[in-house]
Amino acid sequence: MLKTKELSTFDEVNLFFDNAADRLGLTNGLREMLKRPWRELQVQVPVRMDNGEIQVFTGFRVQHNGARGPYNGGVRYHLGADLEEVRALASLMTWKTALVNLPYGGSKGGVQVDPGQLSMSELNRLTRRYTLQIEHLIGPNRDIPAPDMGTNSQTMAWMMDAYGQLHGHSPAAVTGKPVEMGGSLGREAATGRGVAFLLQEAAKDLGLDTDGARIVVQGFGNVGSWAARIMADNGCRIVAISGVDGGLYNAGGLDVPRLQEYQKMTGGVTGFTGGDQISNQELLELDCDVLVPAAIDNVITVDNARNIKAHLILEAANHPITPDADRIVNEGGVTILPDILVNAGGVVVSYFEWTQILQEFHWEESRVNEELQKTMLRAYNEVRSRSINEGITHRQAAFEVGVQRVARAVELRGFV
Ligand code: NAD
Repeated sequence: MLKTKELSTFDEVNLFFDNAADRLGLTNGLREMLKRPWRELQVQVPVRMDNGEIQVFTGFRVQHNGARGPYNGGVRYHLGADLEEVRALASLMTWKTALVNLPYGGSKGGVQVDPGQLSMSELNRLTRRYTLQIEHLIGPNRDIPAPDMGTNSQTMAWMMDAYGQLHGHSPAAVTGKPVEMGGSLGREAATGRGVAFLLQEAAKDLGLDTDGARIVVQGFGNVGSWAARIMADNGCRIVAISGVDGGLYNAGGLDVPRLQEYQKMTGGVTGFTGGDQISNQELLELDCDVLVPAAIDNVITVDNARNIKAHLILEAANHPITPDADRIVNEGGVTILPDILVNAGGVVVSYFEWTQILQEFHWEESRVNEELQKTMLRAYNEVRSRSINEGITHRQAAFEVGVQRVARAVELRGFV
């Protein structure tokens, strides 16, 4: 988390939940059941470092709600991944999987570590130990981890291997694996591709010509780099991009593939000669058509909300805007498409990966992308019409759809 604040990120997500629950008229008891995580686990993750010393990390797995199916949620490696943050991310997964109508619940995992400081063999040992500590909670029909910030397909391959040592070969136990290990074609790009699909659709509604549209992307990891690359291929101008080390601005458009090559070689974006250096703060406040926060949570707050100049914000990151800032930005006439809609492409293709493995049958990448597009547009149109019909924001509409579906599943299961 970037700054100290009174409400935790979980409290803030619950403000969005409460807002939907009020309009849906949910009873107090049902609200409590829906708000609180069903199960939380905190674990110790000791790792023998390359220098022979033992370092002990803290890990979590939060299973927020499993009424609609097995839990599904990413694993984050980040120093800020404390219990409150993992809870918040797990609850967002519950509303997201329901919004895009997948037969999943919501969960999230995290280890408080800066993965950039560990060698590959240290990361391998950390991942195996974390997997052993949570293995009794996960599994193909229980809870299916996926990559998130600080983790990737290699992490998922290690998780699958560690889980398989105890339970036998279990490729459906994790998603976002390398294709060579049963991963789905198109999974790596899926979250960014989903963002790009939504831009094309929302632009029609906003009367925005995407050809040459000025796009600003914060974060150049899995989600940000794929979103930027696909949007550039679609004719957009990516005028600014940043990583944790700072940003770059080029009014004529950055060369995204060259920047990717540069990042591969140097580990960051600073020093790239195809643009002027800017800070992450300056980047968020740039004059542009579309702002895509694709890095960390809580980057748009009351401190900078009034300075946002974009016409459309696509929340590729989870919870990039605090509730107070959300209100201010909305009042300023900016359209915001919320995280639980915009970044759902990752879990949608995780679901495709899981179903492909269970059927032992693999899809072509073109089929994955087509089905992803259909799923994203169906959810967008549901959110859009609800927002118009009820005169509410896209976020309010998205939470309404998600919360209503989970509430219905809880009632139908009849477990109280
Ligand atoms: P990643 O680790 O691949 O990349 C993160 C990027 O953010 C890097 O470029 C990093 O330099 C940058 N960054 C980190 N801290 C920053 C800071 N303080 N300021 C500016 N930039 C910073 O992570 P990712 O998988 O691309 O995830 C990014 C966001 O998207 C997260 O909020 C994640 O929860 C969300 N998300 C990811 C997926 C997925 O499939 N990977 C799916 C849904 C949502």
